[in-house]
Amino acid sequence: MPAELAPGPVCPRHLVGFDLRRRPHLEADVLVLGGGVAGMCAALAAAESGAEVLVLLKGGSDECNTAWAQGGVAAVLKDDEREGGDDVEHHVRDTLVAGAGLCDETVVRDILIGGADAIGFLRQHGCRFDLDAGRIMLSREGGHSARRILHSGGDATGAEVVRSLHAAAAAHPRITLVENAFAIDLITADGQAPGGRVNGVLYHRREELFAALAGATVLATGGCGRVWRETTNPPGATGDGLAMAYRAGAVLGDLEFMQFHPTTLYIAGGARHLITEAIRGEGAVLKNHAGERFMAKYHPDAELAPRDVVTRGIISEIRASGFPHVWLDATHLGDAFLRSRFPAIHQACDRFGIDIATQWMPVHPSAHYHCGGVVTDANGATSLASLWAAGEVGCTGLHGANRLASNSILEGLVLGVRAGRAAAQAGGQPGRVRTAAAKADPAPEGLDVPDLVRSLRHQMWRQVGIERNAKELTLAARTFSFWLGHQARGEFRERAGWELQNQLLVASLVAQAARRRAGSVGTHTRTDAQPGLAAVRYCVNKESP
Ligand SMILES: Cc1cc2nc3c(=O)[nH]c(=O)nc-3n(C[C@H](O)[C@H](O)[C@H](O)COP(=O)(O)OP(=O)(O)OC[C@H]3O[C@@H](n4cnc5c(N)ncnc54)[C@H](O)[C@@H]3O)c2cc1C
Repeated sequence: MPAELAPGPVCPRHLVGFDLRRRPHLEADVLVLGGGVAGMCAALAAAESGAEVLVLLKGGSDECNTAWAQGGVAAVLKDDEREGGDDVEHHVRDTLVAGAGLCDETVVRDILIGGADAIGFLRQHGCRFDLDAGRIMLSREGGHSARRILHSGGDATGAEVVRSLHAAAAAHPRITLVENAFAIDLITADGQAPGGRVNGVLYHRREELFAALAGATVLATGGCGRVWRETTNPPGATGDGLAMAYRAGAVLGDLEFMQFHPTTLYIAGGARHLITEAIRGEGAVLKNHAGERFMAKYHPDAELAPRDVVTRGIISEIRASGFPHVWLDATHLGDAFLRSRFPAIHQACDRFGIDIATQWMPVHPSAHYHCGGVVTDANGATSLASLWAAGEVGCTGLHGANRLASNSILEGLVLGVRAGRAAAQAGGQPGRVRTAAAKADPAPEGLDVPDLVRSLRHQMWRQVGIERNAKELTLAARTFSFWLGHQARGEFRERAGWELQNQLLVASLVAQAARRRAGSVGTHTRTDAQPGLAAVRYCVNKESP
């Protein structure tokens, strides 16, 4: 896939001033930022290759997107484990169709071929998948031509992945895990100038700044869904890793492609709880305000069409009816089946007085998965020396313009393991690092950070949401740059302020990327679309390599 590089928004190289000679620091062969599926696989793979590994997490072990994943992991298992008819080439074809012409086919095949071994890695580290008569139970989701989704605890797959990987890491003598450690900025060899070799990270814990130095760093900080008002993502998904990588000079790409999940629970005052696609895979159907099924009008696969198609179908029905949501009807699946196969959804709806065995669920699309990120090869290597990226923060070319359901945990697994191994091979003790950065003025006094975050998220939903146009995108990008340079300028002293600065930077990058792509493709819908597909990956960084 050819790439076009452009300059991005202007921002300072570091969020805070520091002098490494005066900072307490930890050292390791391999530093991993993030404790979701990608980070924990990287940590285990690096430690098992002989490296001393340090893992930093900004919260606790279950504060990550992985822990919230419901549907499962897409993979074509080895011959003796899979059900009839499926093979990796079918999975490749489905992924390319969902990606709408912008996937990198070589990368797609390479990663998907790695799926069966990656599932083996997960099972060796204690992850238990649901079984049926001793064989792994497989379900189907939108865009998949076969049953190939592995799941755990019905719809609690992510929690089991996190439980097993964290237990394995805790038992490993070469892994040190530090929770509540907020990574602020990557440390590069030449300090101020972006684009240098990465030597570790500056982080904040218990009111103090520290450095973590390593011969190799793996960025696995997850996605940025919280930048939008309506989202399935937990509060920590603020795009810190993307922002850090951008400030350090790494190349980022495909930033315009935020996937909007078609079906999240839409109840005023309630969280946007995801209603997994697997429930449509089992037969649940979408109905409009008049109680009619409508998806067959938009795609021959109806409810099992790719996510971008279902999302646009729902938005059309909402616009036509003026009613704020559509309905998901699972009542014909029966109480016993729904309780055992989808216990989390059953409970979440029950809390709002909806019995899904007898009542329809109100659903609406929400920002869900960021297809773009730090550009890497199929082993997670980035454009910066000694920096790897894996999981949702990365951009390999697997997803193109739209991720196929349940391909993301798979990618986190495969890339996490590969990046961990490569980092262990390249890593080693960091040597003497003397980087320093000048302090800036303090952030404006009395700034209402939560209020600015709210405004940002509203504006992203309105102007950089499911449907976009050049005028609104230009306005949004200008507003975010202005807020970044004025209201949110200077040095903050706590996590909320740095997350605000990261979110503003990410929002500004996404708005600019969306402005640049003039045609509609995959998750990116332009109401003022120019015809034709620009089969190019738009990349960004202020310092083009
Ligand atoms: C509700 C929901 C359901 C989903 N269902 C599925 C599914 O069924 N199948 C599927 O394939 N995908 C699913 N996804 C997507 C998938 O869960 C994620 O894409 C994937 O888990 C991301 O893994 P990750 O390791 O890259 O990031 P995460 O799991 O999000 O982990 C990120 C880690 O980085 C840490 N971190 C972030 N910023 C910092 C910082 N500044 N300093 C230190 N640490 C930091 C966090 O603490 C966290 O530990 C779902 C997502 C959601 C939200």
